[in-house]
Formats: sequence, structure tokens, C-alpha cells
Amino acid sequence: MSDLPPPRPARALGRKSIRPSLTPRDLMADEDLANVWTAQVVTLMPEAFPGVLGLSLTGKALKEGLWALRTIPLREFGEGRHRNVDDTPAGGGAGMVLRADVGAKALDEAIARARGDVPRLLLSPRGRRFDQAMARDLASRDGVVLFCGRFEGVDERLIEHYGLTEVSLGDFVLTGGEIAAQALIDATVRLMPRVLGNHHSAEEESFSSGLLEYPQYTKPAVWEGRAIPEVLLSGHHARITTWRQAEAERLTKERRPDLWRAHLAKLGRPEEDREL
Ligand code: SAH
Repeated sequence: MSDLPPPRPARALGRKSIRPSLTPRDLMADEDLANVWTAQVVTLMPEAFPGVLGLSLTGKALKEGLWALRTIPLREFGEGRHRNVDDTPAGGGAGMVLRADVGAKALDEAIARARGDVPRLLLSPRGRRFDQAMARDLASRDGVVLFCGRFEGVDERLIEHYGLTEVSLGDFVLTGGEIAAQALIDATVRLMPRVLGNHHSAEEESFSSGLLEYPQYTKPAVWEGRAIPEVLLSGHHARITTWRQAEAERLTKERRPDLWRAHLAKLGRPEEDREL
């Protein structure tokens, strides 16, 4: 499904014990990377982590040791008194490029701590588009090493030497890889057992079935003259399931012909594609 290297054989995952009163920064794994899924993030902005990942369900799971996070501050590996991490692009042009030798020292540090089957990814607008299948794949590994670019990006030789898989959040350009890394980690961690608890079902939502999710409603029953569809208040579970399935199909067909085509192909009904 993805361009990630094939998974290595599974390994038992243990639980990390953590003191109850940790602050978000303490939560970030330090010397011992426990036997839990661990994201190691090489970044020029370690203070951006855990960021939103330290809140709500992912934050609770981080505190409970269901997963771990460690930042590797790129600046610490910089050259000279000013800890330089970048230089001007060979061949000229605007901006600065992160140096391969500096990036390599940070990556070596991450790789030395990584345990098990841990893909190495570079956040990059040139990469393969991140999606739910890739999140599921990553969740099944032992963790991930993420390299966040900044400025004009990184020296190509770093990508080649470490065989980094480039992963993009979408067809737009961010200032740095940190927001993309957090999005990727969030989507991955929420698929792990016990992270969502009873709050959500990862099974029924968008993309898990290959369809977009049906519309959701909650109280009040009538708002601004708009009523909740009667079937949802009927208590008739079979009818509700049928309605939701029909709505999911309608929305997918309307908004994402690409997903709809893939869905029909999976069901062995590719000929219905011609309707589109
Ligand atoms: N000059 C580059 C863009 C650099 S943006 C180009 O044209 O391709 C700086 C950094 O932000 C990148 O190195 C990458 O790590 C991150 N970034 C920007 N857009 C991204 C996206 N869509 N997905 C993932 N990471 C992105």
C-alpha cells in the first residue's frame, strides 16, 4: 500500500510506567525509549512539541505511556560557535538549505536509539501523499523517525544516504515539517489500541471503509428550523445503518469520485463507475 519498506516481524510491545505529575516536556521520552511505539522527531523547533499532541486523547495516551515522543534538536548538532545548520544553495537561488552533515549527526542519534522496525521519513511537499493506509501501516510498526525540513529544504544527499521516505501532507507548502509531523503522528497514534478509548470508533469513520463518513447530528432535535433526519430518531437500528451507508455512498460519489471508483473496484462492481 505505501512506499514504506516492508514491515519487519512483529515485536511485543510493553507498557511504560510514568509518574502521574509529568509536564508535557517531561513526557517526552528521554534516555530510555520504552517498549512502546515511539516517534523520534529531528527538528529545529523542539519547543513546538508535543504541541497539540500533548492535549486531549493523544496527550492522555502519552501520559499513560501508550506511546512516546522524543525530539532531537537539530541545532545541537550545528557547526561552530553559532551552531550553523544550513548554508546557501549550491548553484544559487533564494533561501538556505539544511546541511547533510549536520542532519546526519541528528539522524544517527535517532537511529541509535530506535528499537525494532522504525521507518525513517522526511516531511516534504515532494513526497508521497500521507493517507489513512499509511497511518495504519505506521501504527503497526515500532515507531517512526521523522526529519522536519525548514527553509528551502534539506541537502539531497541526506535523503539518499539514509534512504529517507519523503512524505507529504498535501499539495501546499508549509514553512517547516513540524506541523506535518504532528499531523502524521496524531493520525497514527489514534489508531493504536486504547488511545481513543470509548470516545470514538476508528472503524466507522472516513476512509476506514473506503468511504467518507455519513453526516452526524446531535441535540437539539430542531435547530434554526432544521430537524435531525427522522430515521436517526426512530430507534430502528437496521434502518439507521442503511441510511448511514446510503449517505456515505452519496457523499463519496459526489465529493470524491476517486475514492468511489476504488470502492466499486473493491466490491467487484467496476462497471458502475460508468455512471459517473
Ligand atoms: N523548497 C521546498 C519547500 C520547503 S518548505 C519545495 O519547494 O519543495 C520547508 C519544509 O517544510 C520542507 O523541507 C518540509 O519539511 C516541510 N513541508 C513543507 N510543505 C510540506 C508538506 N506539504 N508536507 C510535508 N512537509 C512539508
